[in-house]
Amino acid sequence: MNAQLEVHMFPCLSDNYGFLIHDSEENLTASIDTPDVSAIEDALNQKGWELTHIINTHHHYDHAGGNLELKKKTNCIIIGPAEDIERIPGIDLPIEHGQEFKFGSFEVKGFHTPGHTTGHMVYHFESEKIAFVGDTIFVMGCGRLFEGTPQQMIESLDLIMSWPDETLLYCAHEYTQANAEFAITVDGMNQDLIQRKSEVDDLRRELIPTVPTQLHLEKKTNPFLRSDDQEIRMGLGMMESTRTEVFAEIRNRKDQF
Ligand code: ZN
Ligand code: FE
Repeated sequence: MNAQLEVHMFPCLSDNYGFLIHDSEENLTASIDTPDVSAIEDALNQKGWELTHIINTHHHYDHAGGNLELKKKTNCIIIGPAEDIERIPGIDLPIEHGQEFKFGSFEVKGFHTPGHTTGHMVYHFESEKIAFVGDTIFVMGCGRLFEGTPQQMIESLDLIMSWPDETLLYCAHEYTQANAEFAITVDGMNQDLIQRKSEVDDLRRELIPTVPTQLHLEKKTNPFLRSDDQEIRMGLGMMESTRTEVFAEIRNRKDQF
C-alpha cells in the first residue's frame, strides 16, 4: 500500500490540538475530536478538504463539543467509543475495544483506555505507526483520573506501551512544559528527562508544538510509564509497592503540583 495518511495539526482553544487526517486517494477527511468548530472549519478551508468523518476519543466538551454542529453542516459520519454512546453526541459507528475499522484505505484499531474517563478510546493506525491518544497520555504526562482508577489507567498506558517504539503519539493538549517541570520532581536524576526538558523549553519559547511524541521517548522520560523505575521508587520511598501504587502516588502528586 502506497497511500499515505496526511495529518494536519493545529492549536485551538487555550491548549488543545485539533487534528485533521486525510486520505487523498478516496478524498476523505476526518477530524479527530471536535474541540473548536471554527478552528476546524478554518483548517479544512486552508487545506481545501471536506469533512467526511469525526473520530472521537472521549465525551469531554473540548473533544466532542462540536460534533452536532459539524454533523449538521457536513453530514459527516461520527465514529466513537461504544462505551460512551450515551455521552458523545451523534455517534453513527460505535467502536468496541479492539475493533478494527476502515478510514478510506487505512486500517484503524480502536482501544478502550479508561482512566481519564470511563469510556475513553484511542485509535491506532498500525501501518502508519501513528496513534491518536486523546487525553490518555501526554508528552511526559497522562490524563487526570476524572472517572477511572489508577489500576485502569496503568492498564491503558500498558496497552499503549505494547505498540512499536517508533509509534508517533498525537496527544490532544500542549501540557508538555508543565509536565516536564513536574516530572523532574519525581525523576530528577534521569539524564534523558533533564535533556528533554531543556529541549522542550527551547521549543516552547518559539511556541513550536511538542506534539506528536514518540513512544520510545515517553518510555525514557514520562514518569507515568516508569512506575517500576528503581530511582523513582527510591525517591518516593516506595521500593516494595506495586506499580499501581507507585503510579497512583505520582498521579496524586501531579494533581497537587
Ligand atoms: Zn478530557
Ligand atoms: Fe481534553
